[in-house]
Amino acid sequence: MIEVKNLIKRYGDNLAVDNISFTVEDGQIYGFLGPNGAGKSTTMNIMTGYLAATEGEVFINGHNITDEPEAAKKCIGYLPEMPPLYTDMTVIEYLKFAAALKKIPAKERSNAVTEAMEITKVANVSDRLIANLSKGYKQRVGLAQAVLGMPEIIILDEPTVGLDPKQIIEIRDLIKSLGEKHTVILSSHILSEIQEICDKILIIHQGRLIANGTPAELEETLGNSSMELTIKTDNPDDAVAMVSAIQGVTKVKVADSSVQGEVTLSLKLERGVDLREEIFNACVKNGYVLLMMKATHFSLEHIFLELTKERRRVRRRVKKKVQPEASEAAPQEAEATPETTETEKEGE
Ligand code: ADP
Ligand code: MG
Repeated sequence: MIEVKNLIKRYGDNLAVDNISFTVEDGQIYGFLGPNGAGKSTTMNIMTGYLAATEGEVFINGHNITDEPEAAKKCIGYLPEMPPLYTDMTVIEYLKFAAALKKIPAKERSNAVTEAMEITKVANVSDRLIANLSKGYKQRVGLAQAVLGMPEIIILDEPTVGLDPKQIIEIRDLIKSLGEKHTVILSSHILSEIQEICDKILIIHQGRLIANGTPAELEETLGNSSMELTIKTDNPDDAVAMVSAIQGVTKVKVADSSVQGEVTLSLKLERGVDLREEIFNACVKNGYVLLMMKATHFSLEHIFLELTKERRRVRRRVKKKVQPEASEAAPQEAEATPETTETEKEGE
């Protein structure tokens, strides 16, 4: 289990990680999802003890990564963004070397290397120089290094970046199989990838954790619903007024597809509400004939795009000596976002 508590990382006055807290339970695959520069690598580098946090704590199976780095690191295998490969070594030489660095006991090293090569399917290139391997194989060797000694937790930073589609599928399958016995955390800026592999998704944006849950939970809690109605009327304005007055409707727009004698309306609704009955009843009460009613739910893709849309404001910068309370006092992004994105949509 991993506990990340109030993690902050500043590079000069750039706030790369802004008060992130979360827990990683055993035996699941977690995905850090966020656009480039979101803070994924920085968070992973801190969690694995490669980088010191400015503030906050990380516990790996109860071991504080700063106070007990050896005990904590023993539980983790890490594939950083730039795999630390020694390209003038053969695959087997490199993995033996990595096993020694990881302090795997000398007697067990040979077996550990064989096992890692089997899992990541690099045994057939074990005597090749790393420099001469394809990008896909190099990535597998990096992965072999991460799984050496079968650590409980495997952390992979953008493991499929730069690979061709066939290699991506192979690496994804490999990650899924690793997830059967290990806790896996991987990062990606590609939603479909995270959605396909991961049990839990953490969306990181501008250094903040803005959503955390299963794909279904995120859709449930963050997906604003939308609807389309067609009402028989010669007076669209009255129909708009009637629908706008229904509680839970946040936006009403007349669709271009409206024809003479009918008006088609696109509605935005508050999160999670189902207004089909209310709309039907309002039409009956006001003497309108409802010709069509269709409810839609925003996909995770839509949510991700909305949550991580470039805000008009510039990237937040902090003065060097900001009190920790200052960032804690910031509004919960997941709550604050719908309004922001709604307004931005207007301008599209
Ligand atoms: P991601 O992995 O999500 O693409 P990073 O964690 O690499 O994001 O970067 C987060 C932010 O921190 C970015 O704004 C990046 O420019 C900045 N950053 C990362 N590493 C450094 C560094 N060594 N020095 C200064 N700024 C950095
Ligand atoms: Mg990165």
